[in-house]
Amino acid sequence: LWSAIADRFRNKLERPSYDNFIQPARLAQFDASKHTAVIEVPNELSRDRWLKTYAKEFTTFAFETNQMLLANIEVRVVEPVVDLIEEIEKNDNPDLQRQAVLKHGNNLDPKYIFDTFVVGATNQLAYGAALAVSEGSLEYNPLLLYGGVGLGKTHLMQATGNNALLNDPNQKVLYVTSEQFTNDFISAVRNGTTEKLREEYRNADLLLVDDVQFLSGKESTQQEFFHTFNDILGHSGRIVMTSDRLPKDIPDLEDRLVSRFQWGLSVDINKPDFETRIAILLEMSEKENIEVDRNVIEFIAKQVDSNVRELEGVFKRVAVISKFDSGVKATIDDATKILAELDIAQKSEVTIGFIQETVAKFFNISVADLKGKKRNKEIVIPRQIAMYLSRELTDNSLPNIGREFGGKDHTTVMHATEKISNNLEKNSPLQKNIAILKKQISGE
Ligand code: ADP
Ligand code: MG
Repeated sequence: LWSAIADRFRNKLERPSYDNFIQPARLAQFDASKHTAVIEVPNELSRDRWLKTYAKEFTTFAFETNQMLLANIEVRVVEPVVDLIEEIEKNDNPDLQRQAVLKHGNNLDPKYIFDTFVVGATNQLAYGAALAVSEGSLEYNPLLLYGGVGLGKTHLMQATGNNALLNDPNQKVLYVTSEQFTNDFISAVRNGTTEKLREEYRNADLLLVDDVQFLSGKESTQQEFFHTFNDILGHSGRIVMTSDRLPKDIPDLEDRLVSRFQWGLSVDINKPDFETRIAILLEMSEKENIEVDRNVIEFIAKQVDSNVRELEGVFKRVAVISKFDSGVKATIDDATKILAELDIAQKSEVTIGFIQETVAKFFNISVADLKGKKRNKEIVIPRQIAMYLSRELTDNSLPNIGREFGGKDHTTVMHATEKISNNLEKNSPLQKNIAILKKQISGE
């Protein structure tokens, strides 16, 4: 029955729809006397699609091919049994991740959907804008999502693509990382297939380019991307990009790209606050169907405040305990061990003020000089070191650090930190001094 019906779908649907939604589905139960069938699909996105359209067609095809009358079709999500350890390794290994992504043809990973994205104060603007774009809005075009690692940029961007396809399966959505774009372009030039590649990209209705900061310094790829960008906006296609910083802070990025990247809307995503971290952990335990005690959840949310990827890493290890030791629930002790293993025990708060005091004492100058405007070497270098350490040892943004140093511009802070880190490699006295300072500051 299934193969006859699948054949019908194959004839009727576009290839990507078939590959993504029909091929992975399974007829799990079938009861001719009760006129019922149960279809199993691998994720929520598929289930949605099945409920919206395919279930109806399934009924028609069942009748056409086998004269089966179906009155009721249940569509169930059965997540493939993934080994959690393997999942963890996959997360740590971008190559495997990429292969997993490529399996899905249009390069979108169906696991990233809006439904599983927890919205909080620090990402709600980004979420709202991404949702609007996925629904066809041209108001934020291009949309640029920027922020640190593991804060959900890729998740939101992929959800934008998945939701756009859900709304209108006939549009052409394309997800690439900027490295993939670069590699595609390089091999197209080598093989003389640039025309084909251009067509592929420039016809996109929705182009998603992840991590554009990696276009830095790649001149001919930037040129190609510039034209792609113009073509897509020219035919009212939409573009979403992510970056770890604002375009103007990406070194060696053509001015015309910097300005175009900011034509639409740039929204930042920041670290989730405590409540949002709890909500994210609850979402994870629901998704994985693993019960974790509330106090353990709160403990983890309190300790892990860096980013969502790290939160997820801890949760997965906690989940392993609860999953394989059936009946056993992870305790705070377990969580403490896991944090120690992962080296995420919460660091005591280091402040910029404390860094300034320590550095000033070390170089025998005053904190006022450190924050002041003097330009002699004896002051400037300690100042740059203190800025560098503030960046390294605290979570403060560049503008924040600038403010704490007597109201300096964030670019000054950026130059200072870059200068020190560039020098660290070649300058061993500097290395030594920084190491000593770091020890003094973190109290080891
Ligand atoms: P980025 O691209 O910013 O480095 P990712 O999108 O890869 O971050 O997110 C890292 C992990 O954290 C992913 O597994 C993602 O699903 C999850 N994640 C991030 N933010 C959220 C959120 N707000 N709600 C639920 N999961 C999230
Ligand atoms: Mg990412």
